[in-house]
Amino acid sequence: MIRTLLLLSPLLLAIGCHPLGFVRQREKPAEEKIDRAPREEAATLPSRYSFRIAPYIFLSDFEIPREQPLFDELAQLRDQVYKELLLPPGTAEVRVYLFETRERYERYMKERYPDLPERRAFFVAQPRGVGGGEDLMVYTYWGKRIRQDLRHELTHALLHSVIRDVPLWLDEGLAEYFELPPESKGINKMHVEVLRRGVVSGAYKVELARLERLRQVDEMNPAEYREAWAWVHLMLNSHPDAKTVLLSYLQQLRGTRHPGPIGPKLEKVFPDPEKSLLDHLESLDAQLARVRLP
Ligand SMILES: [Zn+2]
Repeated sequence: MIRTLLLLSPLLLAIGCHPLGFVRQREKPAEEKIDRAPREEAATLPSRYSFRIAPYIFLSDFEIPREQPLFDELAQLRDQVYKELLLPPGTAEVRVYLFETRERYERYMKERYPDLPERRAFFVAQPRGVGGGEDLMVYTYWGKRIRQDLRHELTHALLHSVIRDVPLWLDEGLAEYFELPPESKGINKMHVEVLRRGVVSGAYKVELARLERLRQVDEMNPAEYREAWAWVHLMLNSHPDAKTVLLSYLQQLRGTRHPGPIGPKLEKVFPDPEKSLLDHLESLDAQLARVRLP
């Protein structure tokens, strides 16, 4: 993860997806209710209400409907991520700032992080000072895509609390995979359809080595997010040996030496990984088509 671009101040390293041009082009949400707070008032972080579901602390200025299944699901997300990836659970606290409206959220972000692009959510890791560890923070607002946005950003936070340096493509691929509700089993229907259409028409070519070379957030466009998701889905859901390659790779990333690209390791399982990926997408498409039939 780069993140030189993400250096907003000498002490701040914003990482994860959306900060600093991590160009994840999500749909613009529908208009949220208008915030009547006077413009001249300084934007502040939500702090009035808080509750904890370890390792997260949710902070807001409105009463969050805590009984919503979303919060149980986010607790399960923590277990799901660590269990499925065979990682030791992180203990670092993740502060989740939930703004009531998009307007308040944007006002705060513009004031605090003026160089950030407009996104619905951000994950930021901020060093506390020499040897002091990091503060892990997610910023977002209570909008229509809150479930998916929180699952995505919290996946970044959960990963980052146990692996300091997750390669950009893998960080996003895993966040895309786990942002989906558990019942979808990691299958993003839109990603399958759009990716296959691009490949079949010749407009897009999958290539793991190219994805692994991406270092700058602005090189990650929606197509790269889809492809990153597809590689993660292939590795976790096709051949047990491919899953082992990914899980071992994550263990290596926890060590001090970077393990290099994953592509050559995957070739030991799939001699032609790109062909295996396309076959996998085709079978997912067929599976989805069966589900769609009456
Ligand atoms: Zn992301």
